[in-house]
Amino acid sequence: MEIAFKEIKVIGFDADDTLWVNETYFREAEEQFATLLEPYETKNKIDQELFKMEMKNLALYGYGIKGFMLSMIESALELSNNEIPQATLLKLLDIGKQMIAHPVDILEDVEAVLEQLKGKYRLIVLTKGDLLDQERKLDRSNLSDYFHHVEVLSDKKEKNYKDLLEHLEISPNEFLMIGNSLKSDVLPLVNIGASAVHVPFHTTWKHEEVRAPKKNSGYITVQKLTDVLAYL
Ligand SMILES: [Mg+2]
Repeated sequence: MEIAFKEIKVIGFDADDTLWVNETYFREAEEQFATLLEPYETKNKIDQELFKMEMKNLALYGYGIKGFMLSMIESALELSNNEIPQATLLKLLDIGKQMIAHPVDILEDVEAVLEQLKGKYRLIVLTKGDLLDQERKLDRSNLSDYFHHVEVLSDKKEKNYKDLLEHLEISPNEFLMIGNSLKSDVLPLVNIGASAVHVPFHTTWKHEEVRAPKKNSGYITVQKLTDVLAYL
């Protein structure tokens, strides 16, 4: 099934790694974590254990930096058999605080694309993560004025999207989502009868990795964000 671009009235933008850089900072934080935990385990094992801890805690804490900080601390205690120095625990908290304080790096062409689309479509931001952190990033990005609505979801599954579209009184055939994650920004939308554009980012969190369907219907993949303008 091709995308009926003519029917589209509302466009949803993912935020992290679609509007601005995000995953890169997590990779950097993981590197710092591995360096601090070097006395106790190999880098490979440290990476694996931290990821496992994050997955174990995801249902409890949700997405975002704060949950990641707690997982780093718990993981450090486990990997060191509770012998991690308190000073190192403080350093772990500091890694997280630096992530939260990091300036927002808007991705290339984002503003140009929003400028082209505003007025022609109703634009909304759909992101997941810490509410406060995402609101802060949007504020610092100076992109807020382009959007009619901002929604921070606890997750991006079919039900989350379905409920939101119902709440905003948007019919799925009129809705197009643009995002970097096939798993979170594309496939759930296609499954509820909406459309999506996949704009891959060079770094993907392991948790977001998913195999692309053999026949992609209801979505297209483009190399860069400006490519969407050819369709809209
Ligand atoms: Mg994203």
